[in-house]
Amino acid sequence: NREIHLASRPQGWPTGDNFRLVTTEVPVPGPGQLVVRNQYISVDPYMRGRMNDVRSYVPPFALDAPLDGGAVGEVVAGGSDEISLGDTVLHGLGWREFALLDAKAARKVDPGLAPLTAYLGVLGMTGLTAYAGLLEVAAMKPGETVFVSGAAGAVGSVVGQIAKLRGAGRVVGSAGSAAKVERLRALGFDAAFDYHDGPVRDLLRAAAPGGVDVYFDNVGGEHLEAAISSMNPHGRAAICGMIAHYNDTEPPAAPRNLAQVIGKRLTLRGFLVSDHGQLREQFVREVSGWLREGTLSYDETIVDGLENAPAAFLGLLRGENLGKMLVRV
Ligand code: NDP
Repeated sequence: NREIHLASRPQGWPTGDNFRLVTTEVPVPGPGQLVVRNQYISVDPYMRGRMNDVRSYVPPFALDAPLDGGAVGEVVAGGSDEISLGDTVLHGLGWREFALLDAKAARKVDPGLAPLTAYLGVLGMTGLTAYAGLLEVAAMKPGETVFVSGAAGAVGSVVGQIAKLRGAGRVVGSAGSAAKVERLRALGFDAAFDYHDGPVRDLLRAAAPGGVDVYFDNVGGEHLEAAISSMNPHGRAAICGMIAHYNDTEPPAAPRNLAQVIGKRLTLRGFLVSDHGQLREQFVREVSGWLREGTLSYDETIVDGLENAPAAFLGLLRGENLGKMLVRV
């Protein structure tokens, strides 16, 4: 069995030296336990926060122990009343080849219904984040103008498409390259821009001349400041992530225009997908319907080999992914 350990806590941008590939014995299940051979593992931006030794909504990763995170794989030993050998399960012990876990901590998935990778992305955590953030947290209404940052990523690309499918008047996305911008247009975004091409404030103004009613924030900082400037009275922002600042060692300078929240009566609401599990059934039903009809598409960037999981994670922070970043074990 091979697993990736956190060797040291990154200061600022992580490097390969913060990770260590460790070989261990394949675990043996006890009563009520499973051993899962992981097929795909997820790397996610929130993992950067867990590498710091700070109190947060999830405990920090321990040093010299395997990292963890979303994974799907096949049960190769153990079992329970609900889960048998050969079943495919979704669970939280990624970053390793073989995971030992309580059967209660695994959820069976149907590999015949959707590709395995979908359970880590569009039909999984990032898809639910998009769905819940847009429809429940920001309560988008038909006809509204929606702006989403990080729009070519796992969450953002689904936000923009759901907005269109649920009747948004105009959907604008920002992303970090010309190729990503082109992809957003192909996905049905009404306008898209590369945030490197000028001040975000100006780029957004031009892309959403009628102002923004709903902002789905994946980025923070300058993007949030620009959105506040462009937002219409009574606009709502779902604050999902602030990836522009996850590697900062100093507090961010922007947004500097928070006072506009008052005059415009804006709502800026942070949320965690874990609080929206009650939406899961409705989300899976609606999104799998759109996938079947072909009205919603999703991108994945798949890196091969567990040993390359740290590189995949670093690539995610640098924007090397289109859609969901995954590692094939
Ligand atoms: P993505 O697939 O969007 O990957 C991260 C992307 O962030 C990169 O591809 C890169 O794209 C972009 N990025 C990196 N640095 C910057 C920067 N300085 N400015 C602008 N964009 C940047 O990841 P996810 O879809 O998994 O996550 C998106 C956001 O949602 C993250 O902030 C994450 O923390 C958050 N999140 C929050 C959850 C919650 O419960 N609140 C749950 C899941 C995710 P580009 O090339 O465009 O720069």
